[in-house]
Amino acid sequence: MATKDKIKVLEGKERQEWLNLTDEFVHLDFLYDNFSFNEKDVRKYNPRDQIKINLKKFNGESKDVITTLGRYVFNVFINNFPECKIFSIIGYINEPLTNKVIEKIDQKLASAVLDDEMTVTELKTYINKRDWLGYTLSNFINPSLNIDLIENNPEVIKLKKELLKKYKKEIETDPINTIGKIEKQLTDFAKEHLKDSPSMDLYASGCRGKFDDYRLTSIMRGVVQLPNGKYDYSTTSLSEGIKQDELQLFNNIMVVGCAGRSQDTAKGGYQSKIITSSFQTYEFDEKDTDCGTIHTLPILVTQGIYDNENLLYRYLVYKNKLVFINKKEDLKPFINRVVQLRSPMFCISEKICNKCAGDLYFKLEADRPSLLFSLISEKLKNISMKGFHSTAVKNKQFDLNDYIK
Ligand SMILES: [Zn+2]
Repeated sequence: MATKDKIKVLEGKERQEWLNLTDEFVHLDFLYDNFSFNEKDVRKYNPRDQIKINLKKFNGESKDVITTLGRYVFNVFINNFPECKIFSIIGYINEPLTNKVIEKIDQKLASAVLDDEMTVTELKTYINKRDWLGYTLSNFINPSLNIDLIENNPEVIKLKKELLKKYKKEIETDPINTIGKIEKQLTDFAKEHLKDSPSMDLYASGCRGKFDDYRLTSIMRGVVQLPNGKYDYSTTSLSEGIKQDELQLFNNIMVVGCAGRSQDTAKGGYQSKIITSSFQTYEFDEKDTDCGTIHTLPILVTQGIYDNENLLYRYLVYKNKLVFINKKEDLKPFINRVVQLRSPMFCISEKICNKCAGDLYFKLEADRPSLLFSLISEKLKNISMKGFHSTAVKNKQFDLNDYIK
């Protein structure tokens, strides 16, 4: 991020003072005094200032690392000194705390709770601290939208005109795919062109807003779906203004967005009801029960299944023996191989047995899990809700051969 203040490396007495920091000293006044701009637009420290620390402070091995002041404060704050329990699970986080990184941390801590390495109370403390720090800092650290990202950028608009001219013929013959390609090229160019604007942090962090919003306001509306299911497009952006002959098109976009929220949410809601009703008699047997079914579900363990831990806490049958996937690495030998998965689909006991169901629901102490199954339909509902804010149309080419190998 480009800020007015230069990034410095902390040394000597100043560095030593920071090294003595523990979680109890991190409070609103402390953050405000150190990281907020005063009336002269100057601040004591830039969160990107650098400091050399030793991980031993976090009960880890004695290893020096260069980190930023902001990351250091985060790590110190979420670890309860001197215990530093979270550190033993996720280590020292020395990368930008984007939405993705926070999700990764949350995933690891949630698994730690399931594996009894951490209590629910400790997880709650982490969530409270994480959210307090994030929301408190947003008051004086987070950038707002600046003029770079509100106005049309002359370079981007120049390229837009060039591309529309260059692909004039293709637009006439294949408008939707061609405009889709131009949209993407312009969006990539704008992202690179504006990367040093402080406001880009809003999009780069992944915490709020999508760069696609910028495309709509400042590049071009692009391809849109109409209420009748067909597609049309507009090459103007909202900042440039809606042309008279495009009024109908833009009204249609509003209809499609509102229809998503008012009509399609009901579809997801209804699906939730069906799923909850259908599975309300679904119940798990006692822990360690095994119905002894000989039937299993063959599944190809892809890298994606391994990375996303989709088979964690499930039972596989391998060489006539049950293999329990207790941690991610247990599945490693099976990557790119077809495994035989024990599944509730083939359970032959009255209640679903432990080996067919896996251990997850037992860890969650959910013996009647039907409410958890509505996650699928909730997703459907959320997508319809999102349609109200973004009606962006993405096109992708599919090769059928990729799916029928
Ligand atoms: Zn069973």
